[in-house]
Amino acid sequence: MVQRNRVLFIQPPTAFSQTSPCLDDKQFGLGLLANAAWLEANGFEVRGLHVPLALHYGFDEEDVKAFILKENPIVIAIGLNWVHFSIGALEVAHLAKTLLPHVPVYIGGQHATMFAEEIVRSNALSVDGVIRGEAEHPLLSICQQVAEAGKVTKVVPGVVTCTGNNEAPQVQENMDELPVYRYSVLKPRSLRPDAGAISTTRGACPFQCAWCVEPVIGRLQGRRKLMFHSAKRIVDQIEVLMGEGVSRFTIQDNFFVGGNAKLIELSEELICRDIHPDHLNIFAHPESYSYEGYASLSACCELASVDFGVETGSYKVAKINNRHFDREEVVLSVSEAVRANVEPFTWWMAGLPGEDETALCDTERLILDTMKVGGIPRWVSPMILFPHTPIHEDPARFGVEPRFKNFQDYSKFSQATLAEAVLFSDTITHKSTGCSYEDICNASQRLRKFIAQHLHVVEEFYETSGMNPDLKSVESRILQSFF
Ligand code: SF4
Repeated sequence: MVQRNRVLFIQPPTAFSQTSPCLDDKQFGLGLLANAAWLEANGFEVRGLHVPLALHYGFDEEDVKAFILKENPIVIAIGLNWVHFSIGALEVAHLAKTLLPHVPVYIGGQHATMFAEEIVRSNALSVDGVIRGEAEHPLLSICQQVAEAGKVTKVVPGVVTCTGNNEAPQVQENMDELPVYRYSVLKPRSLRPDAGAISTTRGACPFQCAWCVEPVIGRLQGRRKLMFHSAKRIVDQIEVLMGEGVSRFTIQDNFFVGGNAKLIELSEELICRDIHPDHLNIFAHPESYSYEGYASLSACCELASVDFGVETGSYKVAKINNRHFDREEVVLSVSEAVRANVEPFTWWMAGLPGEDETALCDTERLILDTMKVGGIPRWVSPMILFPHTPIHEDPARFGVEPRFKNFQDYSKFSQATLAEAVLFSDTITHKSTGCSYEDICNASQRLRKFIAQHLHVVEEFYETSGMNPDLKSVESRILQSFF
């Protein structure tokens, strides 16, 4: 029997044939969870399928088909939030349309937003539209129209179809009015049911690092500026997820832009409500927090850690790419985190415009200097050059030649295995003056090997520090890290 108000959310695989994705495919898209919560709050019955997890647990494509048929929804919403799900999202759309030809299929998410027109133009038979930007209001309008009239008859701002529409989406201005989300809406269960991500901000990062896709996506999503959830609302979200068994949290969005003030507010709210997560991890840049901020983070949870996006140790590279950088500040920030009992992890990049032998040596030196004060390298990634970033818009100014230009090009991330992405240059998105695709791939390998050779430095540091970070998995993770 058709449920007249049931909506099915699907987190796609990278591709049904892919057995070793080059990027993690087991995460839960927060946009998808947020939209499921929003539709539920607006009276719809919501179901969710996490296809990569289903495949991981031994189900196959036939089981996915059976699930879609059994749920028999009025609308299907597919999340395409990151580059490596490109092919899988379209495979799921095609499969759903073949099974349920009269059910509208929409794709949304950050990556879909960047390539909205191209996706609808090339997939008109299986994709009814792409939701560009924040999806709550457009998706609600779609579902209400289908529930009432059986189809979408009115233009929905924010939805790109093969007949056009480039109007910006309406966004929920007061973010705290958005309902909190639950991981349990997507089945099957997560591989790490005690771990969850918290959404704290929406909108564009106010900085303009030339390679970074964050401000681009933030602007495309339709919000005027970066906005924060209140500390109360963030803790409401943490509390609800704790009720589902999540006790280890990560904040990987633009929360760091709020600096010490926002972090201290969050810490005080957690302490005031006697909510004490087992682990709280936050993404930041080295200049984001001082000791005061780290101390407040450490005070509100059992284990605190920060992922520092340092990226480069070269003043020249930082300047070319409009990136704030101060070597001493980086080392000081890592050591201040340690002083406050916060585990400091560092993230690095290769293939940035302006990178040469001197720049790579500078980066190696800074990696070593941060390791001497407790910085634990976690990730080395070749830069992925995305459309609409300052570099992609004006590559000549940065001495760069883009190799990936359209959705089809970026779909290579769905097909490449992790080993291929780490070892070969097929997923390198650009070359630059004096730097071939292979050079960028090799630079990435070189930094990984440098870290592996110097891991003893950080191991020795923690022998006497009184802290006990998990260093056992660092080497294998670094050598296999891609993005
Ligand atoms: S790298 Fe960080 S600071 Fe720079 S634009 Fe991106 S999110 Fe903002």
